[in-house]
Amino acid sequence: MRKKIVAGNWKMNGTYTDSLNLFNSLRSSENEFPQNVEVMVAPPYLYLHDLLKIGSSKIKVISQNCSSKSKGAFTGEISVSMLRSISIDCSIVGHSERRIIYGESISDISEKVKQLLSENMQVVFCVGEQLEERKSDNHFKVINEQLISIYSVDPSLFSKIIVAYEPVWAIGTGETASPEQAQEMHAFIRSKLREVYANAADQTRILYGGSVKPDNAAELFSQADVDGGLVGGAALQATDFIKIIQAAG
Ligand code: PEP
Repeated sequence: MRKKIVAGNWKMNGTYTDSLNLFNSLRSSENEFPQNVEVMVAPPYLYLHDLLKIGSSKIKVISQNCSSKSKGAFTGEISVSMLRSISIDCSIVGHSERRIIYGESISDISEKVKQLLSENMQVVFCVGEQLEERKSDNHFKVINEQLISIYSVDPSLFSKIIVAYEPVWAIGTGETASPEQAQEMHAFIRSKLREVYANAADQTRILYGGSVKPDNAAELFSQADVDGGLVGGAALQATDFIKIIQAAG
């Protein structure tokens, strides 16, 4: 039985005070979180340390990104060992905003996965096709290509990988993949993982992301291969995010 995960990606939103308030609102409701759901939030780098210091036994604070390099003259970058040094042990990588807006290639993302695993960190590894790729019926091919970044992970470390399927056409657009479209792609991803990690693929959590809201979360999360969600916009409102967490229970 895979334990569901609901992760909130705050992206580049909110002042320091907004972020503390949001985190504290979530903490004040954490006793209402279902026992069988893991909750994560990914605030901007700048706030990670203070949110960790506030702490929560039910909400894991994770990073939105990390550098593909280990250290050195890389102005503005944050390395995995820096994250580790403040007790962060999980990061999102390969988000479509990093792939598309910042031009991160499959090999950049593969390097980030390697960096994270070298520090024994968990990885929320995002994949997703663009609208034209779905319209031209290339979505399975595109996702399979993106999965290359995790096909070479040492099997002993594969349990550190969480996959997030986030169709780009559904991110921040209000348009959600139908539960059937999500299930079809999640089952495809799991079948591809099974070819490489026969023993681990059935344990891998595959999250759905793309306009998850309180009113569509339960149906998406009820699909056989949907193990929770990666939530953007709706994670910025404590009441909505809590409803989504409860929908996963
Ligand atoms: C995301 O960017 O990870 C995301 C899923 O955003 P939204 O929920 O706003 O579509």
